[in-house]
Amino acid sequence: MSMMRSIYLDNNATTALAPVVLDAMLPYLFSEYANPSSASEAGVRVKKALGDARIAVAHFVGATPAELIFTSGATESNQTAIMGALSLSKCKRHLITSQVEHPSVLLMCQHLERLGIEVTYLPVDEEGRLSLDDLHAALRSDTALVSLMWANNETGVVFPVAEATAIAHAAGALFHTDATQAIGKVSVNAVASGVDFLSCSAHKIHGPKGVGALFVRKGIALPPLFHGHQERGRRGGTENVPAIIGFGAAIRLVTDVESDACYLRGLRDHFEQGLLAFMPCARIHGQEAERLPNTSNIGFIAIDAEELLYRLEQKGITAAAGAACAAGRQEPSHVLTAMGISKTAVLSSLRFSFGRMNQLEDVEQLLRVLPSLLLDMMDMPPITAAPLISCAHSQ
Ligand code: PMP
Repeated sequence: MSMMRSIYLDNNATTALAPVVLDAMLPYLFSEYANPSSASEAGVRVKKALGDARIAVAHFVGATPAELIFTSGATESNQTAIMGALSLSKCKRHLITSQVEHPSVLLMCQHLERLGIEVTYLPVDEEGRLSLDDLHAALRSDTALVSLMWANNETGVVFPVAEATAIAHAAGALFHTDATQAIGKVSVNAVASGVDFLSCSAHKIHGPKGVGALFVRKGIALPPLFHGHQERGRRGGTENVPAIIGFGAAIRLVTDVESDACYLRGLRDHFEQGLLAFMPCARIHGQEAERLPNTSNIGFIAIDAEELLYRLEQKGITAAAGAACAAGRQEPSHVLTAMGISKTAVLSSLRFSFGRMNQLEDVEQLLRVLPSLLLDMMDMPPITAAPLISCAHSQ
């Protein structure tokens, strides 16, 4: 009996740890366990390794090592930027973000609202795009920070970060971007984009979980969330050395974002074209917008997404219904809802997110499996030659 090959198409949720990343981390879990703050020879060695990882990550995002703080992940980076910006601008009590941000931003903003901070949640259009005019109109003299993601985790839609930063700065507000999904998929340069703060996370680029970074533009004394001497007083707590080393190793694997993007786009487009060939009415959310090359969020009309997800899993294929953090909650995705998509259509949507470890064969297998699963779920007789699921059938 042949073993079913498992196909992982949920790379926006997290990615597999790359073997060379694990190799790089292992010594720091065993022999090189000294505290990097220790003056011992071993401590100095570990501190040097941390410095090398910092250089690698900083250079990758176009920053200097002094502008980079290691954190426990993008959640902490996002919340440090938001809280820090508010304490920096003491009399400014207004924040601007968008309706489609990651929960690590949205839930923090909701918490701050309960503490008396005013928050404007910018809408998006039916393709998930943000209007810079809306941003312009929302800015106030007491806006402390604008926080907009570089790319959306559910749809892959990319926001015009550099333009939005310029608009925020012209109104005297600071700018933060959550670039967690953008890193390694599109070129990201923190300094060139003009942002004040940028968050990212290692586990989306084949690094370990529980480590991320926050870029803080030179000259901004951002107050920490965790007070302590580490990270030059900007993030207290003994550094997660093995994870930081792993982050550095994972970043070094991304040697050519353009060619990775081209590869991912090839897989994604092959999937979307193949899907539309047999199900022309499938809706690709954010198709008209600028999108990450690896993300495909599909509205399968009149199909229960959770059921399809389960059936795909039975065939060895992992995808996602909504974001990983929302999975199992049975709540329609706030991202697709903000795009004006009806609740029923949202609950028929699945996200396929491709990664560097996927191959064309994975897409071929998905395209072989999907038509029969869909027809089965629609209670249709199987079509042998060139199955075509028309809109009339699927309503
Ligand atoms: N922002 C975005 C856009 C994300 O996709 C994620 C991960 N789901 C996060 C923030 C949170 O990252 P972490 O898991 O490193 O806290």
